[in-house]
Amino acid sequence: MEKKSFVTKEQIEQIVKTYPTPFHIYDEAGIRANCEAVKEAFAWNKGFREYFAVKATPNPYIMNILKEYDIGFDCSSEAELVLSGAVGADGEHIMFSSNDTPACEYKLAYDMGAIINLDDITHIPFLDEIIGDKYPEVMSCRYNPGGVVTMSNGIMDNPGDAKYGMTEEQLIEAYRMLKDRGVKRFGIHAFIISNTLTNDYYPMLAGQLFELVARIEKQVGIKFAFVNLSGGVGVAYKPDQTPNDIRVIGEGVRRKYEEILVPAGMGDVAIFTEMGRFMLAPYGELITKAIHEKHIYKEYIGVDACAANLMRPAMYGAYHHITVLGKENEPCDHKYDITGSLCENNDKFAVDRMLPKIEMGDYLAIHDAGAHGFAMGYNYNGRLKSAELLLKTDGTVKLIRRAETLNDYYATFDFGEYGDKLIR
Ligand SMILES: *Cc1c(COP(=O)(O)O)cnc(C)c1O
Repeated sequence: MEKKSFVTKEQIEQIVKTYPTPFHIYDEAGIRANCEAVKEAFAWNKGFREYFAVKATPNPYIMNILKEYDIGFDCSSEAELVLSGAVGADGEHIMFSSNDTPACEYKLAYDMGAIINLDDITHIPFLDEIIGDKYPEVMSCRYNPGGVVTMSNGIMDNPGDAKYGMTEEQLIEAYRMLKDRGVKRFGIHAFIISNTLTNDYYPMLAGQLFELVARIEKQVGIKFAFVNLSGGVGVAYKPDQTPNDIRVIGEGVRRKYEEILVPAGMGDVAIFTEMGRFMLAPYGELITKAIHEKHIYKEYIGVDACAANLMRPAMYGAYHHITVLGKENEPCDHKYDITGSLCENNDKFAVDRMLPKIEMGDYLAIHDAGAHGFAMGYNYNGRLKSAELLLKTDGTVKLIRRAETLNDYYATFDFGEYGDKLIR
């Protein structure tokens, strides 16, 4: 499918008068339409709720839009819990799916009334120390099926190598221990493959988890309130990929539900999801300006953003589509490496990418940066994090996070000693 930017060159030329590049910009209309689609896809399930994975795009303005659709928040750190609290999410709208969790974070999640999803059986005695015998009414456990998961379309992952979750034997023991501690309603959670590009992933996972919870209900004598399919629904980063259709996915999960849970007398179990990438990635772009061209053994275009603004290409060699704004209809007859300024040779947004001829001052839109984009930012080489802007449905632009300044970068040094020389 052809990938089009949601902003035009003319819009960006206006925006940069107030907010210079580089910046991340998010498309409110796109976010809202997608939230509607997700709700519709699972409308058949009475208790359905999406818990947005906050780590993907931890910005309260974005989270507040999602909240209008009754979306909750999946958190795994203190900062994410605090953000969720700040946008007014209450207990049952917060899922605390952490791992290797510090005690103070369990305490905060517990005090906020969040649903705690335990990564391991040893976290039960750990939790005993923190909350005593006052366990919440509802608790969840994370499952790891182990082995290797292969799907019909060649997608494969290796849960047996992943640090998350518990074995089936541990899971059964954990539910028994939680039942003994007075927990009344139970959830199960599993996240086994990342960034899947198939409508079959959630239905496949749902089928496995539905069979498992039906077995465990009988074996342990507990009542499941929800099955949490977590994240893993991917997006089409490349133009030749077919995007997932959330309605087909929802329908696939419904079929498994009718086939397995309803006959088991479990037709009241709620389906939860924790999508991050699918909720936001396509609705955010990193906008950057071409500032250098270099002709050595290859052709390079240097831009004013770098891996500190979007780490995925440097970190995983991930493909992010690039549109040269204003040149959408020109032939892609030039081969470039698009680079940032870090003194690291992997700081390249694209390698050997065919694009229209780029002139200095051209604006480039780097697509699908709305999730795991700004969020992964870092300060290596003293590079500062860029601003986040929201393109609202009325066409206006709102600054939802300002760009860092050098003072932010230096803020944690001892100003008493070095302050005068550092403050700008
Ligand atoms: C990262 C994460 C998600 C979101 O994953 P996506 O692939 O972005 O949908 C959901 N749940 C947990 C526990 C996660 O760590």
